[in-house]
Amino acid sequence: MAQEEGPAFVPEITCQEIVQWASAYLDEHVGDERKRHIALHLAICAGCETYVKQIATVRDVVGILPKAIEQPPGSQRLRQAFVARARRLGLVADGRG
Ligand SMILES: [Zn+2]
Repeated sequence: MAQEEGPAFVPEITCQEIVQWASAYLDEHVGDERKRHIALHLAICAGCETYVKQIATVRDVVGILPKAIEQPPGSQRLRQAFVARARRLGLVADGRG
């Protein structure tokens, strides 16, 4: 009747650290190495996985998480079109005199 306490192998990060790093992890403010350890821990520790998911949900609902502002696509194309148009109008020297 022994309960399964923890994984077979000990990850390099503890449940306590998961709690400490949960916010930073969700904000992607952690290094690659730590992120890997956290992800590994979450994969084998249901408790921490639930904890992080709950925090993510709460943050989502509250709206703390800032939405990334997307750069408008095709800005490069716009610039090329502008240059082509300027050339046609004679605003840009085209090498011909
Ligand atoms: Zn854990």
